[in-house]
Amino acid sequence: MDDNSLRNQLRIVFEQIDKDKSGTLSLDEIEEGLKMVNLGSEVNIKEIAQEIFNETKTDGLNTVSYESFLAWNLRKITSKIARGQASALAEMFISPAFKVVNILKTVLPMVPYEKSLEVQWCIDQISGGEIYSAGKITKQSLDTTSLTTDTLLIIGFFSNMNKVKQIENDVNSSAEIQRKRKSLNMSIFRRPSMPPLDADINDIDLNIFNLRSQVSNPNHVLHFISDKVFNHWDLYNKMSIDPKTFNKYTERVAEGYRDNPYHNNIHAADVMQFCHLVLYKGNLVEIAKLDTIHILSFVLAGMIHDLKHPGVTNSFIEANLDELALMYNDRSVLENFHVSEAFRISQNANCNIFEGLEKEEFRMIRHLIIRSVLGTDVQYHGIQLGWVQNKLQNQPLSNEKETVLEVFLHAADISHSTRQWEVHHSWSSLLQEEFFAQGDIEKQMGRTVISLFDREKASVPSLQLGFINGVILPYFSPLLKLTPEIESYIRSIEKNRDYWAELI
Ligand SMILES: [Zn+2]
Repeated sequence: MDDNSLRNQLRIVFEQIDKDKSGTLSLDEIEEGLKMVNLGSEVNIKEIAQEIFNETKTDGLNTVSYESFLAWNLRKITSKIARGQASALAEMFISPAFKVVNILKTVLPMVPYEKSLEVQWCIDQISGGEIYSAGKITKQSLDTTSLTTDTLLIIGFFSNMNKVKQIENDVNSSAEIQRKRKSLNMSIFRRPSMPPLDADINDIDLNIFNLRSQVSNPNHVLHFISDKVFNHWDLYNKMSIDPKTFNKYTERVAEGYRDNPYHNNIHAADVMQFCHLVLYKGNLVEIAKLDTIHILSFVLAGMIHDLKHPGVTNSFIEANLDELALMYNDRSVLENFHVSEAFRISQNANCNIFEGLEKEEFRMIRHLIIRSVLGTDVQYHGIQLGWVQNKLQNQPLSNEKETVLEVFLHAADISHSTRQWEVHHSWSSLLQEEFFAQGDIEKQMGRTVISLFDREKASVPSLQLGFINGVILPYFSPLLKLTPEIESYIRSIEKNRDYWAELI
């Protein structure tokens, strides 16, 4: 039995023990888990558990992450087990039921989202040891999860099994093999349960407000979009990102967004979906010869680009000499803050989505995300516009990948005028409401308020008309001509402009 195999067995045991799915273990739980893998009678389990616990725990905490436990203490455990004893143990340990659960967990991240709850249900049933309890099966499976048909599930299951085989056959380089194996091992983690939502992330007219109306918790919209996007680009496997860790990361990001009228996690989900559309429908991946690192950086940048936005502008924060202004010296204060908070979340042991990456890969991704998010500061719009209008057509974009990501993230950030009128109109009203709320505060402070922020003076249709003509069309026209599949957005923008003109 090699280390990976033992690691997997331990992982399964500790996952079963980790009943609240927190990804952490107490001293007692470590002891309980070690007893389950039966290290042999001559081994003092209490002593090993204490030793492992002391070495792995972070100061001040009473639990350890079982990720770090598995990563750092495996050698200590294996050294305590005689080689032959361990092999025999492994064979005994892998019962057919465990093998089935293992296979199901491996394919879980590859199953279409709509089917994933059903596969998760199968795992729960087999793992729960009550597989022959008829009452449980009939009520839960057939009614509440509307398990369509067993046949469909089996078809899905086997088509994905082929995919697993395909992955194994396809990869040639040893680094790739390592990465694939690592990701398959990681994918035995439990996939988060999310409510089924009805939306197609490839729809260029996706109505994010429809999606929002399908869930009671707005955070689920970002969960849904990010998981779909990650599955579409196979990022869990290709970048060794554990779906469970990504789920926790997304949870923290979604919670980190404040409940502002506009700068909230629905805007984040909307921008992230637009980033995906540009890559996929707009074919930017081919046009700029982007690789998986660029794709991951770009969609993550979209997801986190307004994290913890306080609902007021940089100018307001700087004028008040706010803590953030002091921290970032009036330089793209909010944008620095968003990206900094996003990496801060990943520092948390359960949320480190980057831990499976090589050092150089992480450095590159960090660089790309920072550059792209800082580029969403509107003060750079003029520079970006110059590049889009003068340089975009004149060079192979593969030579300017970083700039490409920056200008397209800025586009995604201000992309709601490409959507259908009712969606665009809603976003415009929400942004305006956020501006007006800031204007109200400025008035109370006795400051002069510019008309854009003054609810008594602003004419929203006139402002929007000016914004579309002066900012949106000059920027989007060259970009969208580059990406013919979504060039129709130009007509959507023009239509919206004409609607505003009628309202003046
Ligand atoms: Zn934004």
